[in-house]
Amino acid sequence: MTKRIALIAIVSTAVALAQQAFTPGVKPFIAIDAPVIAIEHVRVIDGTGAPAQEDQTIVIDHGRIQWVGPAAKAQIPASAQHLDRAGHTVIPGLVGMHEHLFYPSFGGVPIYIEHGMSFPRLYLASGITTARTAGTLEPYTDLNLKKMIDEGRMPGPKMLITVGYLEGHGSFAPQMAELNTPDDARRFVEYWASMGAHSFKAYMHITRGELESALTAAHARGLKITGHLCSVGFREAAALGIDNLEHGLVVDSEFNPNKQPDVCPQGNQPLSQLDINSDAVQRTIRELVQHKVAVTSTLAVFESAPPLQNRFLDALSQTAALNYLSARDRLPDQARAQSALRVKKEVEFERAFVKAGGLLMAGCDPTGNGSALAGFGDQRNVELLVDGGFSPAEAIQIATLNGAKFLGLDDKIGSITAGKQADLVLLDGNPTTQIADIENVTLVFKDGIGYDPAKLLQSVHGRVGMH
Ligand SMILES: [Zn+2]
Repeated sequence: MTKRIALIAIVSTAVALAQQAFTPGVKPFIAIDAPVIAIEHVRVIDGTGAPAQEDQTIVIDHGRIQWVGPAAKAQIPASAQHLDRAGHTVIPGLVGMHEHLFYPSFGGVPIYIEHGMSFPRLYLASGITTARTAGTLEPYTDLNLKKMIDEGRMPGPKMLITVGYLEGHGSFAPQMAELNTPDDARRFVEYWASMGAHSFKAYMHITRGELESALTAAHARGLKITGHLCSVGFREAAALGIDNLEHGLVVDSEFNPNKQPDVCPQGNQPLSQLDINSDAVQRTIRELVQHKVAVTSTLAVFESAPPLQNRFLDALSQTAALNYLSARDRLPDQARAQSALRVKKEVEFERAFVKAGGLLMAGCDPTGNGSALAGFGDQRNVELLVDGGFSPAEAIQIATLNGAKFLGLDDKIGSITAGKQADLVLLDGNPTTQIADIENVTLVFKDGIGYDPAKLLQSVHGRVGMH
């Protein structure tokens, strides 16, 4: 009797899981769903930084990578669905570390619109299978969207929701709460931790006292804090125990000669004079590495006029496209030059930081002037890392395994290794010779379920700018 009940329980759980995976919200986007799958004759870039391996086979068994190795040595179970993908490259699902579910509303108004429908689809279609957000303006919406994706009710990456902004006085963004005291920061962390926040984001006008109080409350719960800081310098934040810094050196205010304690200085720091090899910058790098502060590369958001792509314009609503294109057309030459300088300086810093032993990760940050769209910006970031001197295998490691390490999930995701979750991206082409092939996504596996990127993208045509 007991045995029979147990059996019924197992069967009904399996049925529930199958039904969960095939809700009408998700089913149209599933291309491959089989218990055992063999992806054959592919080039593998495994996410560890190791060079690409040619003619490999990957066996997926019930959502996990069961085996990976030379195609000639593969023992493929008889029940497997065969995918012969000669000419393709497989990389791990990207671990996007600076994602948002919001997008600018254009017109110079600092109001950001939640994109709960289109952005999860854009991320997944672009190969992001794990997305750590880096701040939200609608925490309840983000937390609910995560739940809907986890329950199989809508397509999207595995989401880790970062709540914040932990912002002080003087914010440019009216959607953010302003903290008044360190005690406010503590209560903010306690409340959102109780509501399911995975981590927190500190912002440009927070004081050292507020940051310290937030860090104490978060760390007491085993949660991490990242920051896009300005009122607090990188070295100050590292000494206070911050876990992660977004964007990198080009937003570090401590090199601005007008910097006063706890105040975000007016005006841009003179980037052209910032020397990565100077003692001051090298000291900052040393201290970040000593305090184990990870850095998130967001080069794509610094580009104010990247190459214009049809897929980008297709995703935008007519109004959003018109607003974007007219603003881009009016961009002064000086702004374009400044944007190029920021990318150049930042990637120079990022290479020095990695060389010194720092943990560098990558993300999209779909804000700025709207050029870095969810998912597409993550791919662009990898391309800019390679343009800046990282090898393709290193850049892919930065965008996969390094994020997984920071999240403490590197035993489950981040590389193509037997035993890990089958989060895999199939690319038509060879990113080791042409990194832009990272955009040619033909199939995305999340936990062994294969999603069709073309269908996901088709479903968001004209939606960006709306929802
Ligand atoms: Zn951001």
